[in-house]
Amino acid sequence: MFVVRLKDPSSEHLETLEAEAAPHAEIVRTVRLADDTFVLFRSEEAPDRWRDRLSSLPAVDSVHSVDTPYVLSSRVIRDQRTRLDIGKDVVIGSEEFVVMAGPCTVETETQVATIAHSVRASGARVLRGGAFKPRTSPFSFQGRGLEGLDILSHAGRKAGLLQVSEAMCEEEVGDVASAVDILQVGMRNGLNYSLLEAIGRHPDQPAVLLKRGIGSTIDEFLAAADYILAGGNPNVILCLRGTVDFSKHSRSSLNVADIPALRRLTHLPILVDPSHAAGHRDLVPAMSAAALVAGADGLLIEVHHEPDRAWVDGPQSLTLEGFSHLMNRLRLLAPAMGRWVAPGVVCETDSLHPMEELDLEKPSRDRGNDTAALQGHEELQA
Ligand code: PEP
Ligand code: MN
Repeated sequence: MFVVRLKDPSSEHLETLEAEAAPHAEIVRTVRLADDTFVLFRSEEAPDRWRDRLSSLPAVDSVHSVDTPYVLSSRVIRDQRTRLDIGKDVVIGSEEFVVMAGPCTVETETQVATIAHSVRASGARVLRGGAFKPRTSPFSFQGRGLEGLDILSHAGRKAGLLQVSEAMCEEEVGDVASAVDILQVGMRNGLNYSLLEAIGRHPDQPAVLLKRGIGSTIDEFLAAADYILAGGNPNVILCLRGTVDFSKHSRSSLNVADIPALRRLTHLPILVDPSHAAGHRDLVPAMSAAALVAGADGLLIEVHHEPDRAWVDGPQSLTLEGFSHLMNRLRLLAPAMGRWVAPGVVCETDSLHPMEELDLEKPSRDRGNDTAALQGHEELQA
């Protein structure tokens, strides 16, 4: 496979390129991704031959040879890391280590509002919460659906948080994309190509948090991201959440080496979900710290005000206090890695400040609350 990045994607230039390549290569796809246009070719010819021939055309910016099943997420076509501005001053893939937190599932308005305000006060930037829940058993609670999306989006906005929620099938994509800021694709759908394509061609181009399939290789994971990118949606965030495991100690297995490996292979931002990887709350702080140190761009963490009474995934949910300790600890660790974690913002329940008015401190000043961080030390070490 080879890929041509065009300087000028006008149709006349595309025709010239096509004519020049035609005898030797087949055009697979033309993709417009943000400000770039790429033409993907399949060819049996030696790379140097077509590179020489195509590089001299006026519309061609660069020509790349790719030997992986993924192309658009590859660093071969874009060397700088992608920074995704998801709104409200939150840029994933920037120096900010962005933490998304909240319950596994939306239960009640009070539950989501309580958790939202608390995680915001601890420095989270995005509120998570499933409304459409993929469950192993068809007889388990399946999520509150559209009502759940409303509750999440309302609570998130009131607390000054962006929101992320899962869509499990094509029919849910529009509802999730219009209700919240980030659409999540869960591990069960990590290789659901028709869903990924539907998200890729959705006109709203929602930011997508794409979880790695439970049994997917890294190549398959990045190729899944390409299914979304190929539709013209450049707003993809990768999320590692562990793969199948034979250990009794954790729910799945998260290889920390995958983080730097992905940073080498792809320009896309990388999040880690330590909660679903661990399955037990006492493992979450150490895995979160490891993710930060290994170069992840942020975390997706399950938090509940009453984990023992949570409808779904209580054992892996941090308490509000445990989350606050972890955030203080991450805030101390981040500067060593050239990053920063947002300070917490306490919102009055009835008079919440819009995000634009918040004074978000930058890393040099953002030392967090050292005393609180030290109190959280034991949980981190556990
Ligand atoms: C979730 O984040 O709610 C979830 C179901 O995660 P996963 O798809 O990683 O199991
Ligand atoms: Mn969960």
